[in-house]
Amino acid sequence: MSEIATARPRTLEIEVLRHNPSDPASTPRLERFEIEEADGMTLFIALNEIRENQDPTLQFDFVCRAGICGACGMLIDGRPGLVTLAPLPVFRLIGDLSVDTGAWMQGMAERLETWVHMREQEPDLGALEERMEPALAEEIYELERCIECGCCVAACATAHMREDFVGAAGLEKIARFRLDPRDTRTDEQFYELIGDENGVFGCMTLLGCEDHCPKNLTLSTQIAFLRRKMLIAAS
Ligand code: SF4
Repeated sequence: MSEIATARPRTLEIEVLRHNPSDPASTPRLERFEIEEADGMTLFIALNEIRENQDPTLQFDFVCRAGICGACGMLIDGRPGLVTLAPLPVFRLIGDLSVDTGAWMQGMAERLETWVHMREQEPDLGALEERMEPALAEEIYELERCIECGCCVAACATAHMREDFVGAAGLEKIARFRLDPRDTRTDEQFYELIGDENGVFGCMTLLGCEDHCPKNLTLSTQIAFLRRKMLIAAS
């Protein structure tokens, strides 16, 4: 959506895929809304304006407005003038543009145990945390930038075919915890979590994940690295 001020504001046409799966009478349909463009108008402002002035039942998710929380993922065609919006596929539809990425991410996190597995020991409240090399901390931080928006999963052909595929979001988390020296899991234990077609061998290298990740994470590189490591370990 252009942010350039013009003498006469443009009329924006926004098509939204509407559907409420909890209403048996609802059928998926495209609905078109028209609004007048304003200076600095973002998609969030446009959708809010539609909800406030045209249809209070329109469902969509936005929280932080800063590209951090990952709640606002949706399909956008990107053409100026007419914008068509649809909910992210793969995830459970709540209604209209709102999908339940949280349940999917939680299921993936539980399967892959995406937390630091530390050695059981008595907590020493006075002890300082062990120092980590800045270069390694930087590498881990880079993978921590994932906001769990689900765009990589929605853009992934494998995720459309395999319900249990952990997606680039899951595989990059394994890459992240594998790097963490505080995590006591061995490579073999990590590989066991992702060493099948619902993990690293389900990826068809179509690069949809990397093309659509709003945080520009190097997802295909991470997946290729894990796959290479696993093949070397198995040979
Ligand atoms: S890897 Fe990128 S696209 Fe996938 S969930 Fe994380 S931020 Fe979103």
